[in-house]
Amino acid sequence: MGIKVAKFGGTSLANAEQIKKVQNIIENDSNIKYVVPSAPGKRNKDDNKITDLLYLCHAHVKNEIPFDDVFKIIHDRYISIVRELGLNINIEKYLDEVKKNIENGASKDYTASRGEYLNGLIIAELLGFDFVDPADIIFFDKNGRVDMNKTISAVRSVMKKHEKAVIPGFYGTSNEDGSGEGKVKTFPRGGSDITGAIIARGVNAEIYENWTDVSGLLMADPKIVKDPKPIDTITYRELRELAYMGANVLHDEAIFPVREVGIPIKIKNTNKPEDPGTLIVQDAAPITHSGTITGVAGKKDFTVIMVEKALMNKELGYGRRLLSILEANGISFEHMPSGIDTISLVIADSELEGKLDKVIMEIKSECNPDTVEVYPNMALIATVGRGMAYTPGIAGRLFSALGNEGINVRMIDQGSSEINIIIGVEIEDFERAIRAIYKAFVK
Ligand code: ASP
Repeated sequence: MGIKVAKFGGTSLANAEQIKKVQNIIENDSNIKYVVPSAPGKRNKDDNKITDLLYLCHAHVKNEIPFDDVFKIIHDRYISIVRELGLNINIEKYLDEVKKNIENGASKDYTASRGEYLNGLIIAELLGFDFVDPADIIFFDKNGRVDMNKTISAVRSVMKKHEKAVIPGFYGTSNEDGSGEGKVKTFPRGGSDITGAIIARGVNAEIYENWTDVSGLLMADPKIVKDPKPIDTITYRELRELAYMGANVLHDEAIFPVREVGIPIKIKNTNKPEDPGTLIVQDAAPITHSGTITGVAGKKDFTVIMVEKALMNKELGYGRRLLSILEANGISFEHMPSGIDTISLVIADSELEGKLDKVIMEIKSECNPDTVEVYPNMALIATVGRGMAYTPGIAGRLFSALGNEGINVRMIDQGSSEINIIIGVEIEDFERAIRAIYKAFVK
């Protein structure tokens, strides 16, 4: 077995008890050479994430309000973690330094990044691993994107000197003014997932393990379907489809660094390490028994604008004119199923806010349609699966299941890759439709 990179999320590191579970996982697997921690997250649902508290400190300083009380909460959490783990590290010294820097007007990104930084120091001490500051190996370019070439070669050469290391997640060094004189810059929220993926690629890991508080992806939302089955293997493409519909276990951008080089990601549960978890791979053999889906997920709050015009198919530039109205109004659309004389635009309500009447008026005046109809309160449901491609009868099964439940399907869109079928239903039918689809495919 080659090198493993293991990233642990905030709930896996929320207190000493959780951190001991993490220690156990790492000490039982000598292939885990590089560990990427998040900042301590919530210990229960009313708790605060350290990262949120750090943002709060920064906002206080910016508004010239004393931040001692907020910082004390952060301070006390790290102190109790170190004490309960029985470590010798002088975390007080690091906390003082961080506090002083925040007081002196440190940037928002620097302030937020200290949650991971401090946690990284603690975890490195606990494991006896080296500590590597990601500010020295992860570089952003002038546009705020990761400079992948520079970063990967830095990760590669620095990691050669460290057989085992802890690298805090969530931040690197910016190069906004192009001078190379960088300041700390963070990824978007939840970005430690991205750090883990970058390290995995840099060290050419055999696998990138992402440890969290769920045992991988489930075939459906457990709030809708009772005890849905876990997904053992999913391809990057399927994950993208399901994640877009709200099935989220991993930061969107964490896929790309590893996908390009074919490193698989394994989602695992720190609280139930014996659970198999979900493996995310580049390609997986299609499931051989026909009629299997990988998962079903959906999102509410869409509006469909249906435009009808006789002989639309013969009218040059009709689609372009229609879409340029959306573009001019700064609206992006999700899907555009069409017929000979019709085009439907499926748009998230958040995109349309306050703009619907204007858009309809412009469609009437610039596209001269026979009718324009608006269907609000729609939900989209994606049934996703590589096993669906080239398998006759899938659509039949899906639509019979919905028909038997008396659910009216307002829109159908099959992705060109045949790995997903998207349907639009009324919001009030949303949960029932997901249950019906799940039941049609999972026995
Ligand atoms: N601590 C950061 C956040 O709360 C990054 C992460 O946990 O991935 O967003």
